[in-house]
Amino acid sequence: EKQRLAKLRRLPAVTKDGETVELQANLELPMELPMIAQSGAVGIGLLRTEFLFMNRDDVPDEDVQAEAYAQVVDAMQGDPVTIRVLDWGGEKQIESLVSRGLVPGAGGDNPALGVRGIRLLLKETDLFETQLAAILRAALRGPVRVLLPMVTTPAEVREARDLYDRVARRLRRRGLDLPDPLPPLGIMIETPGAALAADSLALEADFFAIGTNDLAMYTLAVDRAETGASHLYDPLHPAVLRLMQFATEAALRMRMPVSVCGEIAGDPRLTPLLLGLGIRSLSMTSGAVPRVKQAVRSVAIDDCARFARAVMEQSDPARIASLIAEFKARAV
Ligand code: PEP
Ligand code: MG
Repeated sequence: EKQRLAKLRRLPAVTKDGETVELQANLELPMELPMIAQSGAVGIGLLRTEFLFMNRDDVPDEDVQAEAYAQVVDAMQGDPVTIRVLDWGGEKQIESLVSRGLVPGAGGDNPALGVRGIRLLLKETDLFETQLAAILRAALRGPVRVLLPMVTTPAEVREARDLYDRVARRLRRRGLDLPDPLPPLGIMIETPGAALAADSLALEADFFAIGTNDLAMYTLAVDRAETGASHLYDPLHPAVLRLMQFATEAALRMRMPVSVCGEIAGDPRLTPLLLGLGIRSLSMTSGAVPRVKQAVRSVAIDDCARFARAVMEQSDPARIASLIAEFKARAV
């Protein structure tokens, strides 16, 4: 089994009927880089940058960040790296910085509904501009994309893009030969509001990354951390799937890249459903890549589409779970 999965590393992620699927890795800590290289992932679909801000008393400056991003881009040897700007707040509190007054506490009684993600960066523009400059410097070494967390309105994307353009102009004046056009600027779809407004957000963003972890939490009003209501946390609840489908279709209509990067992207049992909904790009923890690749290679898109239609007709999460358990790839 282990050998078979190792052999998969060199095989392409292509369905039986020849459709190519992009399988990328999520990266949370730099020490995961060697595992990603081993996994067969083609690039990084979600680089969570919170690690850079943890376990230190000050905000890392532009040079420190640029060096960290460049290290990841270099390690990917020409494969694309999607770098998500700081997703601070919600369950991702970075206490040392808050307690030193470097950013206002993103707390409040209900931090998941307060100043987090892009909301914080648009208030703390120094922090945001420093990170954007560092990412653009890493873009000199290989293909990158910039990803904004917790976006809910088109105005946030416009404001972020204004800052992005301004930072780029400043770097060009400093003599940096930045790519033209600039690397794509995309957004997480991780709230029901963003999913339902996907068509208007698609006018402002260059790509979507669907974050099913938060999307399920906000849709079902159940915390993603352990609570007494955790049995209700279910990314396969029809409400979550319908939001995913709506956002995916909005992106496909605009011919805009869309990927899924929540935990469900790494579950091979869900690969046929995601392909059937039109998704062709998945980003996951690197250990999951071989099995998801195996799942991709064992199905045909027609079957996946038919299966997804059957799943989307269901209203009962338990019935959806059993349909998924019963799915069998037809021999082609
Ligand atoms: C998500 O919310 O699904 C996601 C991918 O981002 P994170 O898990 O970092 O919140
Ligand atoms: Mg999230």
